Amino acid sequence: MICMKTVLKNCKFIVTQNKKREILTNHDILISGNKIEKIGGNLKGDQIIDCSQNIVMPGLINLHTHVGMHLLRGYADDMKLDTWLKKLWPEEDKLTADQIYVAATMGINEMLRTGTTCFNDMYFEENRIADAVKELGIRAVLSRGLGVEDLADKKRIAKKFIKAENLIKYIKNMKCSRITPAVGPHAIYTCSKDMLLKGCKLAKKYKVINHVHIAETRKELADSLKNTGKRPVEYLDSIGFLDKNVIAAHCGWVTKGEIRTLAKRGVKVAHCPSSNMKLATGGIMPLKEMQEAGVLVGLGTDSVVSNNSLDMFSEMKICALVQKQNYWNPTVAPAQTVLDMATINGAKALGLNAGSIEPGKLADIVLLDANHYLLQPLKKDRIISHLVYSANGSCVQKVFVDGKQVI
Ligand SMILES: [Zn+2]
Repeated sequence: MICMKTVLKNCKFIVTQNKKREILTNHDILISGNKIEKIGGNLKGDQIIDCSQNIVMPGLINLHTHVGMHLLRGYADDMKLDTWLKKLWPEEDKLTADQIYVAATMGINEMLRTGTTCFNDMYFEENRIADAVKELGIRAVLSRGLGVEDLADKKRIAKKFIKAENLIKYIKNMKCSRITPAVGPHAIYTCSKDMLLKGCKLAKKYKVINHVHIAETRKELADSLKNTGKRPVEYLDSIGFLDKNVIAAHCGWVTKGEIRTLAKRGVKVAHCPSSNMKLATGGIMPLKEMQEAGVLVGLGTDSVVSNNSLDMFSEMKICALVQKQNYWNPTVAPAQTVLDMATINGAKALGLNAGSIEPGKLADIVLLDANHYLLQPLKKDRIISHLVYSANGSCVQKVFVDGKQVI
């Protein structure tokens, strides 16, 4: 097969996110197949795309979402998480596989248009979400949610595990390199110890990511202390759940001791600031302590029912603001750190060869309109600031995933 070569010609600025965090001016990027082959001048290819009016950056990575919930956007606002879940669960039960497919196409469309090229998802009927991912050209890590409302409902639990394993097989059979299966034990309050450990075992069996919610609310913490005598991270560690394959969403209610445990076990954290603030979970993921302990932290939107947007540019700004406010310190979460969370950290957490624009990396690339009013005045030393504090998804003009132009 002949490999298609595309040149992104004369890029006004390239935000590389390489080790030196270089921003290049007037360079070409040669895309060969699904990878970036070369960055330089006068590069030749089969297809030439003029990028002289573009800021070129790595695609954003949404480390925690539930894209199948898209049809429920605006349905449950302004309420506590437990009330919210009780309102949503009956509606989610009614969703058909086809409706979840439609929801996924809507969510993926929103993500691609706002510069997200990869997302880490947990929901049900994920095989239909996988179909949508394949068709629309985005990259995704998909897990079947394993939580239940009634832990005594053994039949339902057994069915969920069969579906979780079937999803892994279904995705493997698709042979689409953009789609990776995972396992999704929902949380300690919707999964028994047995379910958590079975989820863990399943993830190990197929060597996939174990995607879970941890320490999201004060209620989760209080219930955990009441039921197990331990805090959520302590409890999960005591049963042997935590390892380097775990991606933990939220982690808003964790102590320094728990953070050390997360670091020791190699757990990755998906910070979801908008969702946490909308649900007023109170606890804010302690970014400074996580960084000091060496925990890898990425950024996620959570679903459109608790956000209500999938725009990762907005999420970056909200992340920076909430972290500064939390520490009474404007030097916390500088723009470069937040951009790292939304790009290179997300890629590392998912084990993807992406998140930066460098030779050999996957060609997941976003082109912003350099003339967009939100990006003015456009100066090289202000670009990172613009991306985090003033841009939004409307600045996105073209998107490449796996070397193919999808927007
Ligand atoms: Zn979630």
